[in-house]
Amino acid sequence: MERTFLAIKPDGVQRGLVGEIIRRFETKGFILVGLKFMNVSRELAQAHYDVHRERPFFAGLVDFITSGPVVAMVWEGDGVVASARKIIGATNPLNSEPGTIRGDFGVNIGRNLIHGSDAVETAQREISLWFKDHELVNWAPDIKSWLYE
Ligand code: UDP
Ligand code: MG
Repeated sequence: MERTFLAIKPDGVQRGLVGEIIRRFETKGFILVGLKFMNVSRELAQAHYDVHRERPFFAGLVDFITSGPVVAMVWEGDGVVASARKIIGATNPLNSEPGTIRGDFGVNIGRNLIHGSDAVETAQREISLWFKDHELVNWAPDIKSWLYE
């Protein structure tokens, strides 16, 4: 089944939104398969945001992501990559719809609370960058037949 990589950024952690953010994916019906609370090395931050290496905000973004602990996660479910992006909202919180995480809790593009993979191939790359195979838990919740026909 499809998987995505999500990370609650240092602002989400500092603002005490970890539970609120996780709740949104959990109550939606997605399945948590990986979770760790960690500091991010500069090497990992630069590799994660490699696609933005030439952008003017890259250095500040790496500084920010390494400035405090993050919650790195892998979630599973049909269509989870695109659906998680919808739950997260547009990159600039001022453009994010109310009801999305960024729309409900953010006001600034550099403090938009959470990362989510933008495509299935990106998700596979990010999951292997952040997690070792043995850190991912293969399981099926007992309620699965109430989530999927
Ligand atoms: N970002 C920023 N300034 C910008 C564009 C992006 O600080 O002008 C940051 C922002 O935190 C964003 C991250 O860089 O989440 C990655 O940018 P991307 O376009 O991939 O947005 P996302 O996929 O996170 O919505
Ligand atoms: Mg992105």
